[in-house]
This record gives sequence, C-alpha cells and structure tokens, in this order.
Amino acid sequence: MMHSPVRLPDSVDHDCHLCLRVARAPAKQLPADWLLLASEGAIAIVCDDCAPAAKTAALAPILYALVPIISAYVSPAEDGLNMDPQSRLWDHLGVDAIDRVAIALECEDRFGIAISDAEAGQAETVGDLAELIFAKRNLAAVSAEI
Ligand SMILES: [Zn+2]
Repeated sequence: MMHSPVRLPDSVDHDCHLCLRVARAPAKQLPADWLLLASEGAIAIVCDDCAPAAKTAALAPILYALVPIISAYVSPAEDGLNMDPQSRLWDHLGVDAIDRVAIALECEDRFGIAISDAEAGQAETVGDLAELIFAKRNLAAVSAEI
C-alpha cells in the first residue's frame, strides 16, 4: 500500500490592502518589497506599488505623536522651532544624551516597542526616529501576524 507524502502548503496568497492585487510568497514571508503596516492595533499588507505612499501615510501619525514627546526636551531657546522630519534631533534641537535616553523610553511606552540607546543615537533627525519606530512596529507585527 502506497502512502503519498503529506505536502504542507509552502506558499500562501497575500492581497494588497489598498489595490487588492494578489501575490504568492513562501509561508512566513511577504512578496518582495511588500510591506506589513502596523498602526494603532490595525495591520494591513500593502504591495510594492502601494508601499511608498502607504509608508508616508503611516509615518505621519508617528511624527505627530513625536512632537509632544520631543518638545518636552527642547531647550527654551529653541522653543517654537518648527519640528519637521529634517530637524536634527540631538544637536539642533538642543537635546542631550540624558534627554535622548528619556525620549527613547517615552517612545517605547508610547509605541510599544524597544529602542536601545545606540539605535536612538543613530537616528539623526526627527524623521529618522519616526522611521525607526515605524520599522520596529512593523517588525513586531510581522513576527506576530504572518
Ligand atoms: Zn497595492
């Protein structure tokens, strides 16, 4: 009596949350350049075409949430500074090494991620810090979801 070997599904369909395009990828992976976006408890998969715009949209609320966190540490002389994504975090904004640790801790609480002091130090601008938070959240979401 012959038994055919049991074949486990080795690839799965993913559909883009925005344009509904479908692509197959190996289990536990997304198709190349597709993104898993995690934001405020919701998770969406977006294709490579939609990813750039979706990422920009996902960064906006992170930047918005960073403003009060970072503003609390900005020196009074810099008060009222327009904190755009290109603003340099650790020199231009007058944030010192102790502030940097405190900001990283507040970001950890606010966004539910872990940021090392070295990682925070590598984020040179407000935009870099938002990107770091974005990447960390998505990493956490990918390991939980796919
Ligand atoms: Zn798409």
